[in-house]
Amino acid sequence: MLENVFARLQDIYPELVEFRRELHMYPELSHQEVKTPEKIASYLTDLGIEVLTGVGGRGVVGTLKGGKPGRTIALRADFDALPIQEENVVDYKSRVPGVMHACGHDVHTATLLGVAKVLSEIKDEIPGTVVFVHQFGEEATPGGAKLMIEDGCLDDVDVIYGAHVMATEEFGTVKVKEGYNSSAQDDFFIKIHGKGGHGSEPSDTIDPLVTGSQLVVNLQQIISRRVSPQSAAAVTVGSFVSGDATNVIPDYSSIKGTVRTFDEGARTIIEESMERIVKSTCEAAGAEVEYDYVKDCPSIWNDPLEAKHVQDKAAALFGEENLNRLDPMTGSEDFSFYQKEIPGVYFTVGGGNPELNATFPHHHPRFNVDERAMLNIGKMFLSIVLD
Ligand code: MN
Repeated sequence: MLENVFARLQDIYPELVEFRRELHMYPELSHQEVKTPEKIASYLTDLGIEVLTGVGGRGVVGTLKGGKPGRTIALRADFDALPIQEENVVDYKSRVPGVMHACGHDVHTATLLGVAKVLSEIKDEIPGTVVFVHQFGEEATPGGAKLMIEDGCLDDVDVIYGAHVMATEEFGTVKVKEGYNSSAQDDFFIKIHGKGGHGSEPSDTIDPLVTGSQLVVNLQQIISRRVSPQSAAAVTVGSFVSGDATNVIPDYSSIKGTVRTFDEGARTIIEESMERIVKSTCEAAGAEVEYDYVKDCPSIWNDPLEAKHVQDKAAALFGEENLNRLDPMTGSEDFSFYQKEIPGVYFTVGGGNPELNATFPHHHPRFNVDERAMLNIGKMFLSIVLD
């Protein structure tokens, strides 16, 4: 049956290209998507798929009940664009100044619609239910995933799969790694309020620059003495600003930085240690402190059993030599929020092709991909659903 299904996907490939290019010409920024979700909803509705719009704000969820018993599987594609001026010379170049699909979300969306079309035609053969999760606002913090989950997009879903096209990976390849695939990102913002004064009379002041310096050093113990050597993590102070003159002790200093972790245990230890160190260092100096620790995306964590299934399918479709089972992906992704709720697998599919100038990295004004990657992502999704 898979052969017939793939042949059908190949038949509708021109339609996918057309849909992708249409999205590419009219990109919409995160949390400002209006036309894109409308186009998606109307395409799914025409296929006879049950559609919910406005999910979590701007998301679209389609549900297709198969004719055979089985699990409920969600497939996710994101649809927002970036504030980048496109520099590609193509006839489907973005018509919106300063906005571009520079991360391939147009490709993801068109692919998932193609998969929905093929599956809707063989509804009776499908074991279980397929939920098409079209997500808004992936590039933003907070992203759309969390909002769509809160609005119930994963209710009754057993497992979720997502894919990202990569221009930096060769067309024809697939990357699927079990376990941790990306680091979680948190950021911290510290403002130390001391008491400024003349540089010649330090005893009349509470020096926020000295306290800030101690704090930068104290924070270094978190990785060296609090986090287990078994966990990989980073605590980086990226900015320390205070004072502006040779003879003035400033009023305040401000420090900000970022934290990257893989496992939740290390993430919690760092968050707790940092709060203790910030408060005690400032208290010891008699300084006041404003402190904000902002948790962004968790890390991508691919369920090992499900990841193994996806690897097997990729090897069968593209050959073991074109499958990378080992390397983690780069960058963070709010797909990780779905994986905190239910098992899930996120994988990447090569779209790089030097002959098409599709070699520029994501978020680059000349980002583009070999559009045939839509067939490869589509084949992966179809074999996952039908097996
Ligand atoms: Mn992306």
